[in-house]
Amino acid sequence: MKTLVYIEKDPTNNKVREVSVELTAKAYSMMEPLDGEVIGAFIGYGLPENSDVLFKYGMDELINLTDERLENLQSMVVKEVLSEIIKEEEPDIVLFGATHNGRDIAPLVASNLKTGLTADCTQLKVDDYKDKGKRLFQIRPAFGGNIIATIITPEDTPMMATVREGVMPLPSETVDNPVNVEKLNETFDEELIMNEFLSVVQKEQKVNLKKTDIVVSGGAGVGSAENFKLLHDLAEALGGDVGASRAAVDFGYADKERQVGQTGTVVRPKLYIACGISGQVQHRAGMEESQKIIAINKGPDAPIFDIAHKGIVGDLNEVIPTMLHYLKEEE
Ligand SMILES: Cc1cc2nc3c(=O)[nH]c(=O)nc-3n(C[C@H](O)[C@H](O)[C@H](O)COP(=O)(O)OP(=O)(O)OC[C@H]3O[C@@H](n4cnc5c(N)ncnc54)[C@H](O)[C@@H]3O)c2cc1C
Repeated sequence: MKTLVYIEKDPTNNKVREVSVELTAKAYSMMEPLDGEVIGAFIGYGLPENSDVLFKYGMDELINLTDERLENLQSMVVKEVLSEIIKEEEPDIVLFGATHNGRDIAPLVASNLKTGLTADCTQLKVDDYKDKGKRLFQIRPAFGGNIIATIITPEDTPMMATVREGVMPLPSETVDNPVNVEKLNETFDEELIMNEFLSVVQKEQKVNLKKTDIVVSGGAGVGSAENFKLLHDLAEALGGDVGASRAAVDFGYADKERQVGQTGTVVRPKLYIACGISGQVQHRAGMEESQKIIAINKGPDAPIFDIAHKGIVGDLNEVIPTMLHYLKEEE
């Protein structure tokens, strides 16, 4: 059997994303007993600085397609390129990190290749399934976490899954395979890069809430995208960044990459300021481990106050400008 791991680079430090290393180790643990193979595919500009680490955790070969025009990844281009690599390499399993990028690319590739995909798996294993031989058992909570479901793609290959960072921690022992990077550039069909897509300007992913000490997050109570400017002002004054609830994202007040919670980013900053967020369990799952939580909400019974260290009952349109006023006075 063969597993392909989609390798991503963290643009903030040019290193391999932790989840890509974790998935390589997981792939190795599944492939090794079967005498299988683990390969990686990196598509972007400039191989991550520490790519060697992938071989320490069991990668046999890394396919590297680096092209300046791929610096701002275009999902549609990556979909085409990765689909071609998969057709060529014929892996049985393809794994993606459940990052913003991975969540974007994985369904596009799955639909392109007409195969199945299970998102946010918490466990993966390869086992015999009926008369179908070895299949990937994709295990994840379902129906709001009330049951654990095992999902199997019985017929189609590759079998594809996404996994969130930190869910499958690295093993203590390394494997130390020899470094083996295959450059695809020389042989790659230029047409596949589809210049018309590359001309589309895409925003660089600059948001990294996990690395931010102070997160000022807004919810439906912020009321509009324009009003989110208040939160950006407060975040800037405090040296932090802006997060959002899913409702705020769904209403179009903030980009998806800012979503905090069960289906967004999980953050543990020194300070989390929740503005106009009711504090539903799915939001709390992404922020309740913050060291200090301040909640601003005009509803005194909002559940966010149950977990806040400090609560301000009031209209955020009055409270935040007052905070900004005092912060400016302190300067
Ligand atoms: C499977 C699943 C996954 C989910 N994943 C996530 C997730 O990752 N992240 C997430 O956030 N949610 C998630 N949700 C949605 C979640 O259940 C809630 O719907 C959402 O968090 C509510 O967002 P909110 O608090 O911004 O909005 P609301 O619940 O509408 O709350 C708005 C709050 O703003 C207050 N308010 C209104 N006006 C003002 C004002 N002027 N000043 C101060 N306060 C004001 C109100 O009192 C209220 O408490 C998920 C749901 C499901 C089913």
